[in-house]
Amino acid sequence: VVPDARRTLASLADQWRSCTDCELGIRRASYDHFKFVVGEGIRRGIMLIGDGPAERDELTGRPFQSDAGQIIRRILEQLGNPPAYLTNVTACRSASHRTDGEGQPLFTRTKTPLPVWKDEPLQMGHATACRTRIEEEIYLVDPVVIVVLGQTAAESLLRRKVRIQTSGMNQPERLTIPGVFSRAVLTEKKQAWFRKQEGKWVAPTEQGEVAYYALPTIRPDWARRKLADRGPDNAFRRLFSDIRSAVRVYEQHQFMLTGVVPSGGSDATFEALQAALATEKES
Ligand code: SF4
Repeated sequence: VVPDARRTLASLADQWRSCTDCELGIRRASYDHFKFVVGEGIRRGIMLIGDGPAERDELTGRPFQSDAGQIIRRILEQLGNPPAYLTNVTACRSASHRTDGEGQPLFTRTKTPLPVWKDEPLQMGHATACRTRIEEEIYLVDPVVIVVLGQTAAESLLRRKVRIQTSGMNQPERLTIPGVFSRAVLTEKKQAWFRKQEGKWVAPTEQGEVAYYALPTIRPDWARRKLADRGPDNAFRRLFSDIRSAVRVYEQHQFMLTGVVPSGGSDATFEALQAALATEKES
């Protein structure tokens, strides 16, 4: 199915909001206070894709609210707040019922006891179930460059093995998703995407492919765990540098389009932020 470029991101979210296509949605739908997590930010800039929502995300319905997610928000701030859009491979949280030392399920000590949950890593099956949603979200956001946070997220999107390293730059990969063949038409003149057929304006139905650059990098929770590591190959430094590379790609793109380099902080360095985040984590 060719995604419909006339759709809004809000209508895409509405379509999936009550989805129970995988067990993550079945768990979410079983509790009124758990929310489907909708991507947020600015289109046609840098799109950052994590593996899935964490606890604070599913309570607020917003992505990148956890301590690890906040690292990404702080890095973007340090880089001068480039136009960015944040989302995840799955829109529902992957979690399991936490147990005590004897394997007994734990519950809150509230009037109505509720299960205590712990985050689980992204599973390929859940990523596959949510794939059409994230692909259509990418298509509608139409980013200049994508940063994929973590190996599982990257492998699920790229459908191949991906090696993420902390020593040396990670390399952008070509990500193709279903869409209208001509990106220029879609991006610059959305109306031109329609054509007249027997007196009516209709959307094209032929299947095409749209390609994006996707840069796989370190998971933010891993970078957070390694904040105390100040060696030359530390995980936070790599995450920061890869996002900074994506910002530079965006700046070059803007320069080619407009002849103006966006004002921002892409030359910012990671040391001060790493030190500040490490102190906050300790306190
Ligand atoms: S993670 Fe995606 S596929 Fe699974 S239930 Fe949620 S919205 Fe549906």
